[in-house]
Amino acid sequence: MSNLKLSQIDSFPQKLLDINIERLYTLFPGPTLLHLQGKRSEPVFISILLHGNESTGFHVIQKLLMKYQHLELPRSVTILFGNTQAARYGKRILAGQSDYNRVWPGTAETNTVEATIMQEVVSEMRRRNVFASVDIHNNSGLNPHYACINKLENSFFQLATLFGPIVVYFLTPKGVQSMAFSKFCPAVTLECGKPGLLGGIDHALDYIEKVIRMKFISNEPISPQDIKLFHTVARVQVPEDVTFSFTNQNANILFKKELYTMNFSEIPADTCFGIVRSNNKARLFAYNDNDEELGEQLFYINNQKIKLIKSMMPAMLTLDEAVIRQDCLCYLMERLPYPAVPQVS
Ligand SMILES: [Zn+2]
Repeated sequence: MSNLKLSQIDSFPQKLLDINIERLYTLFPGPTLLHLQGKRSEPVFISILLHGNESTGFHVIQKLLMKYQHLELPRSVTILFGNTQAARYGKRILAGQSDYNRVWPGTAETNTVEATIMQEVVSEMRRRNVFASVDIHNNSGLNPHYACINKLENSFFQLATLFGPIVVYFLTPKGVQSMAFSKFCPAVTLECGKPGLLGGIDHALDYIEKVIRMKFISNEPISPQDIKLFHTVARVQVPEDVTFSFTNQNANILFKKELYTMNFSEIPADTCFGIVRSNNKARLFAYNDNDEELGEQLFYINNQKIKLIKSMMPAMLTLDEAVIRQDCLCYLMERLPYPAVPQVS
């Protein structure tokens, strides 16, 4: 992938409006920035397909472009078509690639070609006085739609709650798009549920239309009843040398299938996540925002059962074993009081 480079265009081929996501790479073989002029000049930046299997953002953009084909956009829009090669195969990333949502400025992975490209995207959008940034994702578990932010500021709460009341604040993983943009404009990551569902597509499209019609983003506080704010305490991972499954009795850890129904519900202490079958070293790692491993402060093993030490709220729990291996089993979150939130600079 060393010949990978960023393309920038000011118009798009007509084919883009109805091409299948698997064929998108024939139009845009690498990361492509599409700049579209609107009535107000500071652009809304929208990134899609940073994960190639998360198709909702692509469908949103097709519908948006179709709608404004012969209409003036109320505001300029720049779209980043991310990992079109992974989208070709319906994969999050391909072997040999870096994760397109872990290589933005702020990442430790600065020496990859993907990191250089994202640095270039950020410089270009700063030069264009970006108005707001929206990164559209899907996840594979049973999650409600929610927005993530990386700064506890009113303009971020405003932008996030325009999508819905559930807002998740996080500082890890590093190198994500919304965190890079949060340094200079209000930025959100949208989690639109499972890929391709019409509900997620329509919700995100409606949201984008609201954002491009905004004249400014208010700095006023949100009414407390309009926001449910959470923060991530830890990212839970299975150690690389430990096998796991939801079905295979021979795996080192046999996870409970009903885990995936627990997203965004507060689950009590002593909830069982899975059973240690064979490997004595089988356990769960949990990393906080400083990448400190605190698995033993969150989980204990009793009678071969892996249990939660205190009440927590999981998100992004999934049954997809590839996602668990590539990303994580879940995030564990706690409710943050609003508005009594310390301002973080
Ligand atoms: Zn994603």
